[in-house]
Amino acid sequence: MCGVFGVYSGNDYVAEEIYLGLAALQHRGQESAGVAWIDEDRRINVVKGMGLLHEALDQSLLSKLTAKAGIGHVRYSTAGGSHEQNAQPIGANYAQGPVAIAHNGNLTNFKELREVLENRGAIFQSTSDTEVILQMLAHQPKRRPLEALCRALTGVSGAYSLVVLIEDGLVAARDPWGFRPLSLGRKGSNYYVASESCAFNLLGVSFLRDIEPGEVLLINERGLSSYKIPSVTKEARLCSFEFVYLARPDSVIEGISVYRARREMGRRLARSNGGERCLSSASANDADFVASMPDSGTTAALGYAEESRLPYESAVVRNRYVGRTFIQPTQRVRELGVRIKLNPSPDLFRDRSAILVDDSIVRGTTAGLVVSMIRECQTKAIHLRISSPPIRYPCFYGIDTPSRGDLTAAKHTVAEIAESVGADSLCFLSKEDMIESIGLPRERLCTACFDGNYLEERVESESRRACERIFD
Ligand code: AMP
Ligand code: SF4
Repeated sequence: MCGVFGVYSGNDYVAEEIYLGLAALQHRGQESAGVAWIDEDRRINVVKGMGLLHEALDQSLLSKLTAKAGIGHVRYSTAGGSHEQNAQPIGANYAQGPVAIAHNGNLTNFKELREVLENRGAIFQSTSDTEVILQMLAHQPKRRPLEALCRALTGVSGAYSLVVLIEDGLVAARDPWGFRPLSLGRKGSNYYVASESCAFNLLGVSFLRDIEPGEVLLINERGLSSYKIPSVTKEARLCSFEFVYLARPDSVIEGISVYRARREMGRRLARSNGGERCLSSASANDADFVASMPDSGTTAALGYAEESRLPYESAVVRNRYVGRTFIQPTQRVRELGVRIKLNPSPDLFRDRSAILVDDSIVRGTTAGLVVSMIRECQTKAIHLRISSPPIRYPCFYGIDTPSRGDLTAAKHTVAEIAESVGADSLCFLSKEDMIESIGLPRERLCTACFDGNYLEERVESESRRACERIFD
């Protein structure tokens, strides 16, 4: 996932605004956070640390900085482990001046690119794919940073929504497929770039538009200058899973409200009982109420309740003070597992039949544990409803899904999954209903983790040649 944020201002000090923008994007990454700016000596400065934003960064330090442009990042690792040296932004001072990059996505050809660069003498400081882009810039020492960045991006495959800070200004770039969202906003004469528009709401920034797939946008004292990355593809593929799970419900992506899409997924899920992705042997007609797996399933559960005319009950409670950092890998805590975070209310489940809505099943761990906790409440029946299709394929575009072998839906039928998680019935939303709930044309959406249709063809030798041509 990851969240990126950038500000360009002619007049104001912006470092604290970056901190606040990142706070609104915390759901996109909790492993590390960082901020980068250019100081009076034309040097890049980066502060970053591990953990949640308030653990990683000192807000009072940022509030004193006099930077008028900067970028920030919250990280959730896909390529490269969760270590401090992989935290972002990553920055350097090279032949053409200071540069810092923050990246959301995953480069599918980064191993080949890294090999080409190492053969040219590059020494990598991290195992993150983002450093490849920085090295590709630095290996074109005679070209201005913006031109070098545009050339570098022609050799990169996969998913990237980037904010880049250079002396010429703030740059926002999105891969030609547009897998990950990236929004542009404005407040007075200041421009803002964020992974999701929810970060603008916090700061009173007006949403202007999405950064286009394949666009490189330079923001500086002259305003906005837009460039296009030459690309083999004319098609764009926005990640449909952003609408299912990743994005915050108060964000708007490509004109679509995430909240409305998610609620419609719930409504359609209620209508689709008995479909092909439904284990229909056990009917949900006896259900007394709808509950959700908080918070990821709540918006879809509200849609489900509305459509089925059943009451919605907050019957599973989330302990909002338990973050990832609380979970210590001791045997005792491991055994408690999800119990530390999620608890069913025994009173609400006892002798009643419940519909339990969650957004997705990946390994099946969460569903299995929560259903077994609900069983302990002497529940009559638990009908599990999932507001996305079964995830059968890994994602290579910026989501840390496990390999096929660990995806329960890749190995098991719906009936087998229902049995393994202990639900009386189980139903998934169909791909068609998911697409229609989002409301974008189907050819505009990536659905690869549901149907294996990756589209982007990877040819390793071509990747290497493309990279080598950049340095000619
Ligand atoms: P699992 O327990 O492996 O089946 O994961 C499913 C649960 O994790 C659901 O409650 C989802 O809301 C949540 N989830 C889905 N995708 C992700 C992801 N990429 N990272 C973290 N949590 C996820
Ligand atoms: Fe999104 Fe799935 Fe495509 Fe990955 S494979 S970009 S999670 S729709």
